[in-house]
Amino acid sequence: LSPVPSDIEISRSQTPKAVSLLAKEIGLLEDEIEVYGKTKAKINLSLLERLKEKPNGKYVLVAGITPTPLGEGKSTVTIGLVQALTAQLKLNSFACLRQPSQGPTFGVKGGAAGGGYAQVIPMEEFNLHLTGDIHAITAANNLLAAAIDARILHEATQSDKALYNRLVPSINGVRQFSAVQVARLQKLGIKKSNPDSLTAEEINLFVRLDIDPSTITWQRVVDTNDRFLRKITVGQANTEKGFTRQTQFDIAVASEIMAILALSDGLVDMKQRLGKMVVASNKKGEPVTAEDLGVTGALAVLMKDAIKPTLMQTLEGTPVFVHAGPFANIAHGNSSVLADKIALKVVGEEGFVVTEAGFGADIGMEKFFNIKCRSSGLCPDVVVLVATVRALKMHGGGPNVTAGVPLPKEYTEENLQLVSDGCCNLQKQIQIAHIFGVPVVVAVNVFKTDSKAELELVCQIAKDSGAFDAVPCYHWSRGGKGSIELAEAVRKAAQQQSQFRFLYDLQMPIVEKIRTIAQKIYGAKDIELSPEAQAKLDWYNKQGFGELPVCMAKTHLSLSHQPDKKGVPTGFILPIRTVRASIGAGFIYPLVGTMSTMPGLPTRPCFYDIDLDPETEQITGLF
Ligand code: ADP
Repeated sequence: LSPVPSDIEISRSQTPKAVSLLAKEIGLLEDEIEVYGKTKAKINLSLLERLKEKPNGKYVLVAGITPTPLGEGKSTVTIGLVQALTAQLKLNSFACLRQPSQGPTFGVKGGAAGGGYAQVIPMEEFNLHLTGDIHAITAANNLLAAAIDARILHEATQSDKALYNRLVPSINGVRQFSAVQVARLQKLGIKKSNPDSLTAEEINLFVRLDIDPSTITWQRVVDTNDRFLRKITVGQANTEKGFTRQTQFDIAVASEIMAILALSDGLVDMKQRLGKMVVASNKKGEPVTAEDLGVTGALAVLMKDAIKPTLMQTLEGTPVFVHAGPFANIAHGNSSVLADKIALKVVGEEGFVVTEAGFGADIGMEKFFNIKCRSSGLCPDVVVLVATVRALKMHGGGPNVTAGVPLPKEYTEENLQLVSDGCCNLQKQIQIAHIFGVPVVVAVNVFKTDSKAELELVCQIAKDSGAFDAVPCYHWSRGGKGSIELAEAVRKAAQQQSQFRFLYDLQMPIVEKIRTIAQKIYGAKDIELSPEAQAKLDWYNKQGFGELPVCMAKTHLSLSHQPDKKGVPTGFILPIRTVRASIGAGFIYPLVGTMSTMPGLPTRPCFYDIDLDPETEQITGLF
C-alpha cells in the first residue's frame, strides 16, 4: 500500500499461520515444539541432536554502518532478506533475531521486529513479553544478588557453629551434606563425608565465604530504562543491622546471564557457565562464584525454558528464531548460538541462516566474530552491511538526527555532496569486515526521500571500496519482492570461499587485545587506562582470566567513544574507565568513556504513544 501503513497496522492486517503448522512445514516433529499460544513455540534442543549429521546451511551476518539514533534498518533488512530468499527465490531460510528489551521499546528507539512489509508477526508479542525469557533472566540474576547480601549478613552475625548447624541441619538426628556441599568440600580439599567429623578449622573454612563487600561486582537488574537505579544503597532497614552498601542496577539485557543464554550450546554448558560466574572476591582476594553460594542449580532451574529458542514467523510466513537479546553497546550484541546452530541444520546445505549483530559493524560484528563465533565454532559466509542515505548524510556533516523530531531538509532533499562525504564511514565498516576475511554485500535500505542518484552513488562507492556487491533494497515498502536483488547478491557472495579469521589471539595480554580493537577497528591512536581499569586488569590477570576475549562497552553512535564524532574520527585516545569480567559468559568487559550499563528515559519516551483499547484489547503506538 502507498503510503505504507504503520508497523502495527501492517502486522495486524496479516493473519499468522498457526505456529504448529509452520513447525511442520519446516520439518519439525510434534514433540520437538512446545506451543505458547497460537503464534509462538519453544523448540526443544533434542532437535539439534536429531539433525546433527545434516550439513549446515550458509551463514549470513547482517551488520551496519554507524547508525543514527533512529536505527538504519538491520532488523528490517534481515527480515526482508529471508522473505526474499524463501518466499521469492524458494530457498530454505531462517532469520535469527534478538529478543527486544523493554528498555528501548518504551524508551527511545521502539521495538525491534523490523518494520513496514518486513516484520516478524505478531509484532506486539515479539516486542513485549515473548515467552518470558528476559523475565527468567531477571529472576535468576536477582536471586543471585539476594544470595550474596544475605550470605554476608548471615556470616557476620553468626558463629561458625551456628552457621554450620543451619547449613547442615540435623533432621531426625541425622546430618547429611547436600550435593552442592559435597562439591564445596571437594573444592576446599576436605575429604570427609560425615558432617559430624569436621574439625573446628574445617567448619570455619566450610561456612565462611568471607566475601569482601567492597569487591562485589554482581549488580541487580531490571528490564526498564530506569536512570534512578544507576546508584543505590541497599540494606537500609533495621533488620539488615547496618549492612548497607552502595550498588547499582543494570538493564537486564546487559547482564551476564543474558550473555550466557546467548553463548551456551546446551543445558550442561549453561549450567557450568552459571556456576562459574564470579560475583566478588573474598578477603584473601580469591574469586567467589555462584557455585560457592550454592545457587547454580536454582539458576539453571529458572533458566531451563529460556534456553529453548522461540519460533515465530515473518509477514510472508517464513520461519524466525527469537532468542536472547544482549545489547550491542554494553553487552555482546548477538542472538543465541543455539538458535543459529539449530537453524543452520534445519535449512540444510542449500539454505541460508540470516542472523543480526547489533548497531554498527565496529561493535556488534566485531563481537559476533571475536566472541560468538569463537564460542560456537561457526564460520560466517557473508556479511550484509546495511547503510542508509540518511546516516551517510549525517556522517558527511548533516545536522543532528533526533528521535521524535522531523528530519531536517538535508535529509529529505537530494544532497549528493553530503552523501559522498559521509561514505567514509561505509568504507571504514567494509574494511572492518574485510579484516575478518568475509565477503561484504552492502544493502542500501531505501527510504522514500532517497533519490536515484543518491542510491547509485552509495552503491558505486561501496563497490569501489571492495564490497562484493551493493544493491538498493525496497523490502520496507514492498516486502520480500523488494529484496530479491539483495538475495541474489547474497547467494552469489556465499559461493565465494570465506577466509574467516579472528582479529586477535586469546593468548595476547588483555590490554593488547583492547588496544588491537581500539586501533584496528575503531581507528584510535591509542588507549588510556584509568587507575581503576589498570587495577582491575591486574587483578583479573592474577586470577588467571587473562586469556578471555574482550567485550567492549562503547557508544554505538560513533566509531570513537564520543557520540558526536561522526564519519571516521582519527587520532583519538580511547579512555578505558573501568573493566569488569563475565567469567561464566567468558569475556572481559572494558567500559569505555562515560558508557552506562543502565539507560535512562528521555523527556518524551515511546510509552507516551502506547495504549490499549480495553474493548478490543488492541494495542496502539508500538513501532
Ligand atoms: P535496526 O535494526 O538497524 O536498529 P530497524 O530495522 O529496527 O533498525 O529499523 C528502525 C526503524 O526504522 C523501524 O521503526 C523501521 O520500521 C524503520 N525503517 C526501517 N527501514 C525503513 C525504510 N526503508 N523506510 C521507512 N522506515 C524504515
